[in-house]
Amino acid sequence: MAAHTGELIRVKGLTRRYGDRKVLDDLDLELAPGEFVALLGRSGSGKSTLLRALAGLDADVEGEGELQVPAEVSVVFQDARLLPWQRVLPNVVLGLTGAEQRGRDSLAEVGLEGRERAWPNELSGGEQQRVALARSLVREPRLLLADEPFGALDALTRLKMHALLRRLFEQHRPAVLLVTHDVDEAIALAARVLVLDHGRIAAELRLDAGS
Ligand code: ATP
Ligand code: MG
Repeated sequence: MAAHTGELIRVKGLTRRYGDRKVLDDLDLELAPGEFVALLGRSGSGKSTLLRALAGLDADVEGEGELQVPAEVSVVFQDARLLPWQRVLPNVVLGLTGAEQRGRDSLAEVGLEGRERAWPNELSGGEQQRVALARSLVREPRLLLADEPFGALDALTRLKMHALLRRLFEQHRPAVLLVTHDVDEAIALAARVLVLDHGRIAAELRLDAGS
């Protein structure tokens, strides 16, 4: 099991308001190195808002906390954004020096071998999602924040991506926070499942994955 020495994420009282409305409401969260946590919750419950806050991309969030290794965080957004004026491979490598071959390998791992020179607008939504996943994996992050990274995939491709993520998780042991609407996916991949409701953690389930 994950060693609970020095959390990667430890936030307290995380609150995000839009006007009078609290979209994140006094939320506490800890995430240890090498821990795989899935985040479930209804549409609008605050999952993407929480991920953006944890990624340090929301200047208006209130609360105390620390995110210890921001330089080693990879984020896969819900709407995978690729640079439209760059082909697929540079979209994966994105300025990471000496990573061309690793970029090619990552593309092959997400099932996109031979598509290195395609333009983003020549890809389907699910293919773009997989480019975004390859982009985050090539960085071998200590913390992966992923917001429904498999949302646009068919069942078979989704299973392949689960296997890939599990293998990478076992190799590099990043901490993962995975937002998903798929309960089976959460249970299959994570050792801890959180349910967000109205900006609060309404339920927590620990699964002893035995890994
Ligand atoms: P989904 O499963 O649909 O992706 P979510 O749990 O990720 O939902 P969020 O995107 O975090 O939900 O949004 C939480 C709430 O915050 C929603 O009610 C949304 O309308 C609101 N919200 C998000 N961004 C803004 C904004 N810029 N201004 C006002 N309200 C916002
Ligand atoms: Mg969302």
